[in-house]
Amino acid sequence: MTSVKKTTMKIVHAGMGLGMKAINIPRPVLYEGPGSSGKLKDILEAEGKVRPLIVTSPGTVQRDYFKGIMDSLLENKFEPVVCGIIKNDPDICHVKEIARMYRDEECDSMIAIGGGSPMDAMKGAACLIARPRSDLRKMKGLMKVGRKTPLMIAVPTTAGTGSECTIAAVITDETKNYKFTVSDLSLCPKYAILDGKLTVSLPKSVTAMTGMDALTHAVEAYLNAPYHKADTKELCESAVSKIFKYLEIACQEPEDIAVRQNMLKASFEAGEAFTVACVGYVHAIGHGIGGIYHLPHGQCMAALLPLVLLDYGKAAYRPLAKLATRTGVVGDDGSGDRKIALKFIDKIRALNRSLGIDPKFKDLRPEDMDEIARRAVKEAVPLYPTPVTYTEEDVKRVLTLAMGE
Ligand code: NAD
Repeated sequence: MTSVKKTTMKIVHAGMGLGMKAINIPRPVLYEGPGSSGKLKDILEAEGKVRPLIVTSPGTVQRDYFKGIMDSLLENKFEPVVCGIIKNDPDICHVKEIARMYRDEECDSMIAIGGGSPMDAMKGAACLIARPRSDLRKMKGLMKVGRKTPLMIAVPTTAGTGSECTIAAVITDETKNYKFTVSDLSLCPKYAILDGKLTVSLPKSVTAMTGMDALTHAVEAYLNAPYHKADTKELCESAVSKIFKYLEIACQEPEDIAVRQNMLKASFEAGEAFTVACVGYVHAIGHGIGGIYHLPHGQCMAALLPLVLLDYGKAAYRPLAKLATRTGVVGDDGSGDRKIALKFIDKIRALNRSLGIDPKFKDLRPEDMDEIARRAVKEAVPLYPTPVTYTEEDVKRVLTLAMGE
């Protein structure tokens, strides 16, 4: 990228940063702690709602904690309607079905119980309920919903996406194998419940990948300084230090509730940070790969994170070194920003290795590179205030590294 274009992007991001700072981004009312999902009935009662649509996955419907939540709602005379159809990465067809059920069953509120997929499916349906005659694809991008959505309560059962506190919904257009994001202030759930007991049943691989997704949110948001608000850096630092401290333990000792609770909090903090500061090319490239190859989102994030950070080069050394030393992930031995930043990237690679996450995309087809690069640049430019602005050629360079060549 030429120096004129670089300067232009800096001015654009500074201007957009001023705009972002002026926007009051909503935050959910937070309930947290083992057993806090028991608060659902109190929230519904306080909100005067009786007939929530519960958006979840077929696997979750079978779990004891889900049955416990249902029993508690039924015992308290609520009339929950269950939509348990959401598998990985919600698509438009599923989202339409949820909106249809909400209307036909005359529900008055929505509860998502699950990972990012059910939470985003709920948000996507909320868009269609708010704008029944619109096409979800037309709401892609920033602030295109602009209408009141139903009351949404998010109960994450993975510790990764932070969707319980973000204004984003990531939806797959199944006709094009294309993941797109709808972002609107009306998509932040009014309530979020972080109950560590609900994540104990996560398989090791899902714990690992979703944890790396949360790490990616925190690191990418940290690098996007032009959009930072007063507490954004602290949220990122808190999330990064928790993830380095607890993610491996969560995989080794899955029933340690305190560890699970800390991972949920880290994911929440990272979500709050990136909903303000946005993400970067790890996400922009990862959405393209995930959309086409249907790979788990967290796996794409984990594998791309060290590659993209290394590729940013010196533009990212200073903030990465600061993040590394302030979180204690790398000790400040006076060796300078570059060396500390490179050690931090090595720590991420080591974490991937210890979690058993494949660092490469060996099946990536060269003929898909143009499309992934085109989608990545379209997603990131000019919105994401990343330390480096990529062209499609830059993305393809990272993809070549990702293939392991
Ligand atoms: P997921 O919701 O797709 O769940 C992954 C798997 O774990 C599923 O098979 C699910 O059934 C299972 N699972 C979930 N909770 C479980 C539990 N407690 N015990 C056992 N199994 C459980 O995964 P995810 O990573 O949480 O969400 C990924 C989706 O979120 C992607 O579509 C991604 O693009 C999106 N996303 C959204 C945001 C946002 O801000 N809206 C941010 C990042 C990612």
